[in-house]
Amino acid sequence: KTFEELGLHADILQGLANMNFRKPSKIQERALPLLLSNPPKNLVGQSQSGTGKTAAFTLNVLSRLDLSSEQMQKTPQALILAPTRELARQIVGVIQVMGQFLSGLIIGTAVPADTGSRPVRMECSVVVGTPGTVMDMIKKRVMVANRLKVLVLDEADNMLDQQGLGDQCIRVKSLLPKDIQVVLFSATFPAHVHRYASKFAPNANEITL
Ligand code: AMP
Repeated sequence: KTFEELGLHADILQGLANMNFRKPSKIQERALPLLLSNPPKNLVGQSQSGTGKTAAFTLNVLSRLDLSSEQMQKTPQALILAPTRELARQIVGVIQVMGQFLSGLIIGTAVPADTGSRPVRMECSVVVGTPGTVMDMIKKRVMVANRLKVLVLDEADNMLDQQGLGDQCIRVKSLLPKDIQVVLFSATFPAHVHRYASKFAPNANEITL
């Protein structure tokens, strides 16, 4: 299958063309039909690092955004949780390139609120961050969470290797709309990650490569 055949929007295909992705990788080919389905389905996906998971969830996120008004462009509609700030930065980079032809797309990186100054509301369509920072932003109402429709947990295995981060992701999720599409990706899938995934993304379709 080609990216065109997967039904991606022309603006997104143009972004992909700029990245020199000629055809979907295996995980993209299997995940995208499930991710893009309507009504949205939860997905738990396992495949090794470097197989294209970032593009898989990014393409879904970009496909689901409503950027038709300035107000929606400034309303967080997708949230991506990453275990480290460095990974969050890399994900932002990928979204920037793939989404470069989507007019009105605003990407926000979750950064710890400056304790001194008054918090400024995050006005963006997509938010990428580590769980603790995102939690803090939601609690301080820096980030409005009630219009989120996609939640991605990237590198779940690494997330669970770090004390407390798995629980923090669950707490973040408890503050989001109940009908949000939940997507979890992991490079490895040992039993504890599997158990966590069934809790974090209930009734998910599962892909293991
Ligand atoms: P990831 O597994 O998401 O970290 O991606 C690993 C690398 O593969 C990145 O450098 C991507 O730019 C690249 N990549 C992802 N999907 C494709 C694709 N469909 N065709 C060619 N390269 C890809």
